[in-house]
Amino acid sequence: MRFIIKNSHLHPVFEKIQHSLPVTQIDSIPQPSPNPNFSFNEQLQQLLTGKQLLHDDLEHSIEEIHSHYENGYIQYRKPISYQNNKPFCVRCGNNQFFAHFPCSRCHEEDCAYCRHCIMMGRVSACTPLLTWSGPEFPLFKARNALKWEGQLSKGQEAASNAVKLTIIEQKELLVWAVCGAGKTEVLFNGINEALLFGQRVCIATPRTDVVLELAPRLKKVFPDTTVAALYGGSEDRHRPAQLIIATTHQLFRFYQAFDTLVVDEVDAFPYSKDETLQYAVQQARKSPSSMIYLTATPNKKWQAQCRSGKRNYMTIPARFHRFSLPVPEFTWCGNWEKLVEKQRLPNIVTRWLKERIDAGRQALLFLPKIAKMEKVLPIVQRLHTNIQAVHAEDPDRKEKVQNMREKKTLVLLTTTILERGVTFPNIDVAVLGAEDRIFTESALVQIAGRVGRSADAPTGNITFFHYGKTKAMVRAKKQIMNMNAEARKKGLIND
Ligand SMILES: [Zn+2]
Ligand SMILES: [Zn+2]
Repeated sequence: MRFIIKNSHLHPVFEKIQHSLPVTQIDSIPQPSPNPNFSFNEQLQQLLTGKQLLHDDLEHSIEEIHSHYENGYIQYRKPISYQNNKPFCVRCGNNQFFAHFPCSRCHEEDCAYCRHCIMMGRVSACTPLLTWSGPEFPLFKARNALKWEGQLSKGQEAASNAVKLTIIEQKELLVWAVCGAGKTEVLFNGINEALLFGQRVCIATPRTDVVLELAPRLKKVFPDTTVAALYGGSEDRHRPAQLIIATTHQLFRFYQAFDTLVVDEVDAFPYSKDETLQYAVQQARKSPSSMIYLTATPNKKWQAQCRSGKRNYMTIPARFHRFSLPVPEFTWCGNWEKLVEKQRLPNIVTRWLKERIDAGRQALLFLPKIAKMEKVLPIVQRLHTNIQAVHAEDPDRKEKVQNMREKKTLVLLTTTILERGVTFPNIDVAVLGAEDRIFTESALVQIAGRVGRSADAPTGNITFFHYGKTKAMVRAKKQIMNMNAEARKKGLIND
């Protein structure tokens, strides 16, 4: 599609006629003001409010969409903008990965497109981004949306109040909650407040697993609210909802949509490393809006901002069950890699494993690399047959984790994929090769956070076997001890 400008409106043309241009090359796109007498399509209103979609995302004809533009109900935005002659994808913020192709829509030989967000449909120089600019569809204002009988711990309650206030004042807050603090419940009162105002709320999280776990919980406590779960391939994709639980990637389709946006595990990959996801979060917010970040392990920069007062934050230093966090023990184990080459393990590691096996107690053993883990597995299996290993590309990953949950596996060897998000109720945890660079401060705090999570089994052992202590190990231990000290001072733990 190309456009010509006539009577200060865009008009679509389907051939390369004189004065016609792909949308990206039009200097400034005229936007007609809304015609109050236009009878608009309510389905389009629902689909496009707070969104930025492509023609290909919709089943409506180009003529119907264009008539909504002409009457001021749909806004056309440039999909690719040029800054100093360098392309920039307006949908995803990418400014590096572009390609060109001979395009049958705009009839240009070298129509540019964004390679970065292509999995969500191709953004090319001739496909405008479509956004609703007519009256917003009315959201339900709940009188009391929250139906939850549970109790907040004292630590959760303080954070819950801070979240609520942040939402009322439309500010930003980081909730720094230790692993096992119960951070989801801390959002309930704040979300309820937002729904009372008739606001749209989104919880964005890096992983699909978390979306699938959170959505039913939120549907249960907000039974009268429309809740949608969005991830690659989900069926809720076009469902207009007031409360959305989405993977961070899904935010590429949103534009000025949310009054309250919660970003879960803000320190986790890919969000922490991918600037386009951070761009997507900013694009999805309304102005003004409130922003809640959740994490158990803020990165160094954020920790420094907290300490210097540059970032508004709130800690939950204790777990909901009022037991302190298990503190890692550091145990030097010599050159373990060399021993592993000779099909042996350091004695001290064998002893640690044997103690668990003899007691029939489940354990996780973290290793820095898949190759190392594959060499360690047969050595450990000599101690007991019921031992497995799992890593990110393992086709049986889900089944192996499930076996561990059902206590069918006694010891599970793992890479960092199990560092967060999983709960096994009663386990001990060790890291072999804790000195490896892959074990950052956050990774080690998260790994230690796997121990003692349930109220029935709130304690356990966490050991870092190492061949030379690292700063990350020392910082991780210090972070855990600081949280315990803070919790003790505030009267949030019993032991
Ligand atoms: Zn084109
Ligand atoms: Zn893009």
